[in-house]
Amino acid sequence: MLKEKEIYTVTITANTETGDGVCRIDDFAVFVAGAAAGDTLEIEITKVKKSYAFARILRIVTPSIHRVEPFCKAFPKCGGCQLAHLSYSYQLEMKQQIVTDALRRLGHLDLSDAEVFPTLGMDEPQRYRNKMVFPIGYKADGRLVGGFYAAKSHHIIALSDCALGTKVASEMLSAVVRYMKENKVSAYDETTHKGLVRRLFVRTGAHSGEMMAVISVNGTRLPEEKKLVEALCSVQGDFTLSSIVLNSNTEKNNLVLGAKNRTLYGKATISDTLSGLSFDISPNSFYQVNPQQTERLYETAVRFAGLSGAETVLDLYCGIGTISLCAAKSAARVIGVEIVEQAIVDAKENAARNHIKNAEFYTGSAEDISEKLLSEGLSPDVIFIDPPRKGSDEKTLSAMLSMRPEKIVYVSCNPATLARDAATLVAGGYQIKKVQPVDMFPHTGHVECCVLLCHI
Ligand code: SAH
Repeated sequence: MLKEKEIYTVTITANTETGDGVCRIDDFAVFVAGAAAGDTLEIEITKVKKSYAFARILRIVTPSIHRVEPFCKAFPKCGGCQLAHLSYSYQLEMKQQIVTDALRRLGHLDLSDAEVFPTLGMDEPQRYRNKMVFPIGYKADGRLVGGFYAAKSHHIIALSDCALGTKVASEMLSAVVRYMKENKVSAYDETTHKGLVRRLFVRTGAHSGEMMAVISVNGTRLPEEKKLVEALCSVQGDFTLSSIVLNSNTEKNNLVLGAKNRTLYGKATISDTLSGLSFDISPNSFYQVNPQQTERLYETAVRFAGLSGAETVLDLYCGIGTISLCAAKSAARVIGVEIVEQAIVDAKENAARNHIKNAEFYTGSAEDISEKLLSEGLSPDVIFIDPPRKGSDEKTLSAMLSMRPEKIVYVSCNPATLARDAATLVAGGYQIKKVQPVDMFPHTGHVECCVLLCHI
């Protein structure tokens, strides 16, 4: 039986997606923060549970070949990255393992007939994010601060620059904080539900060079809005500021943005191009954060679908229609379904601006619309499904199974829910043929994956 404060010398055998190293002592799995697989360490047990325990590093006896010097001083205090102490090549190996483990252990799936490819990584895995969200609030001493949440908390750490995001986004944050100080504008306080500015959201178009700044506010207006616009417009960078939006969120929730937007400067959307198509993006619409890897993800998804030009394609959870429109070039008819109304407005606009005439889009939940389309007799040849982290649901999956497409291409950002949903599809007569992890979020524990399932 392990006890707190006991000291052991161990060799770490694996890393979890939270970045912790793992080793076994007797029958316990021991999680060690900051450890790398292959490290030999002297550790002290800090907490003991029924079948697992936590420990801290006292001394690195022999460092692992996977251990690297983190590229950021804020690591591991900042909650943004979890794997910055691990080499990039090992991160990619880990992500492939996380996907296969989830499918095998959580989904109880047999992968013997499946091709599981190595994770598609980035050549330069830094400054890849096109979206940065900076919470703004107060430090314990009352000082105004903007930056990032500390790991597993809502304490804000001031950050001058984030190596995963664009430099200009961090400079926009400084401009907002300066405007707030100069004009005595308050920040929102989660505990009292008082104060105005909640966060700054900056989205850049990697290809278009356009930039949008969205200020989320607990109210409908800000003092001296013109001065805020001037402060933001004065920031020099590689992008052209084409939109400033005031977003109202007066609810007691922790959503990144509320539902209402008012344009303070320029356009209400920004545009960008992906895989040769041009997209218009509203603040509330989902848009993948890593444009370079998104192109590779969508190319994989469309390739897995093996379209000949004659197919009817259903794209569930379609967002602004990105996958639908990438597939439309090689299909007869594409139908996209998405719950956020503004995203469907964007999707229709995006079809028109790319002169795509064989795509239709419907607002509503995947569960309701898929049942409706089934009752209308829709029988797609291919279904793309790209749900949020919580995955899909019984109703949608059962409607999909009743539609009996030849192929299902499941794009997932959460291996656990992918495994659960894939198990339902396999039980319903499908077989996993291909699994392609794609590294959308280098240095974080997040894993994106594209899976091809074929009807047996
Ligand atoms: N395929 C798109 C979007 C994927 S993100 C892309 O690659 O850009 C998941 C999307 O599912 C989001 O746009 C979200 O708004 C939407 N969504 C969440 N719950 C939903 C539901 N129950 N029904 C339909 N869409 C949903």
